[in-house]
Amino acid sequence: PIVTRFAPSPTGFLHIGGARTALFNWLYARRFGGTFLLRIEDTDRERSTQAAVDAILDGLKWLGLDWDGEAVSQFERAARHREAVEAMLATGAAYRCWASPAELDEMRETARREGKPMRYDGRWRDRDPSEAPPGVAPVIRLRAAQEGETVIDDRVQGKVTFANKDLDDLVLLRSDGNPTYMLAVVVDDHDMGVTHVIRGDDHLTNAARQTQIYRALGWETPIWAHIPLIHGADGAKLSKRHGALGVEAYRAMGYLPAALRNYLARLGWSFGDKEFFTGEELTAAFDLDAIGRSPSRFDFAKLENMNGHFMRAASDDALFESLVATLPYLPGGPAVLETLDSRKRAQLRAAIPGLKERAKTLVELLDGAAFLFAARPLALDDKARDILQKGGRAHLAALLPKLSAAEWSHEALEAAVRTYAEETGAKLGSVAQPLRAALTGRSTSPGIFDVLTVLGREESLGRIADQAG
Ligand code: GLU
Repeated sequence: PIVTRFAPSPTGFLHIGGARTALFNWLYARRFGGTFLLRIEDTDRERSTQAAVDAILDGLKWLGLDWDGEAVSQFERAARHREAVEAMLATGAAYRCWASPAELDEMRETARREGKPMRYDGRWRDRDPSEAPPGVAPVIRLRAAQEGETVIDDRVQGKVTFANKDLDDLVLLRSDGNPTYMLAVVVDDHDMGVTHVIRGDDHLTNAARQTQIYRALGWETPIWAHIPLIHGADGAKLSKRHGALGVEAYRAMGYLPAALRNYLARLGWSFGDKEFFTGEELTAAFDLDAIGRSPSRFDFAKLENMNGHFMRAASDDALFESLVATLPYLPGGPAVLETLDSRKRAQLRAAIPGLKERAKTLVELLDGAAFLFAARPLALDDKARDILQKGGRAHLAALLPKLSAAEWSHEALEAAVRTYAEETGAKLGSVAQPLRAALTGRSTSPGIFDVLTVLGREESLGRIADQAG
């Protein structure tokens, strides 16, 4: 059975690259009836925070990426990590090293001069511990193979070969007894029964080093799948400007989780030229073999279009529920939430069909609904004011008695406005525009008869009267 995991370091929000990694692991497990585990890599006590853990859990939940069992804390497993190192010391697969900071600095300096990455030169590999300086706690290093190659057979990258002479004897346990990241990942993945490690390709070299640790422990390596990182639309490494934000920022920008999921899935993975997937379609289609090798580009315009598609495809009820659930996070949303009594709720729900045709995000949807929450007399934008000043007010004054005499239904109101337009020889648009300005304070809105029926008789007539000349 397949076991995947997501292993974020809680040093910041769940950023968009991490969210995609989590999604790929989740999809792969769900596709094959496997298990998706969550491990919080909180060994860096200085940089790990509870707020970051909470943000990661919150982000995963919002995206609908449910994990199996309890989240594992890597820090809490330190005793087990030390136990694994003891086993390696016992077999000679690891050794104690007393190289001083000054000695290591020298190696670093040499490497820098040669333009190479720092390599520990193995000076304690075969030296007798009796030569250790007194009172100094050693680190414990892996006795890594010095000749030959370490080959990663990666499901995305193919065969990747590392010359062992380039991989030095890495530290497993620090002198304070704390495990390193490299060791902890191996022991945890092994103990958690992880079969597939799917993660960013910035971890590819780590995979080679981790393979050496697996071998030293006599364990089988998992299947690797290192996915190319996400770049910005201009091809440069993803930065804030490009969308390297926490997923909560995408929630606040009004994207639906289903749309973001679809977008992220298609970022690096493809299934023919199919663009849009339901949740079920995604879990049925996802596989590692169709992940490309080149970095994918994050494209806000594409995400926005995809979101618009998901909004239009959603049922009105579902979209309404998404909007209400997201109000606490949307700009201006909390204020709307406060005024959302049962009457306003019903109005908002009734306005959804008209609003969703014009909106690509929940932010735009809420913005389109602003007229529902506006107080009389309405503030007018420039265009609305202009429409009213250029003959609009007279139309409103003439329409007022006709509308108040009409039955308050879409059909009857439309008939009344049409009759008025015909009688006066005005175009329907030149009558609808002042109504729109008076009812919404803007020059664009959902269909005017929808606006009238959603607002109701009393509020509509009041707003028209406010602006009638
Ligand atoms: N904690 C690592 C990170 O956040 C991931 C380690 C892994 O996936 O193996 O980059």
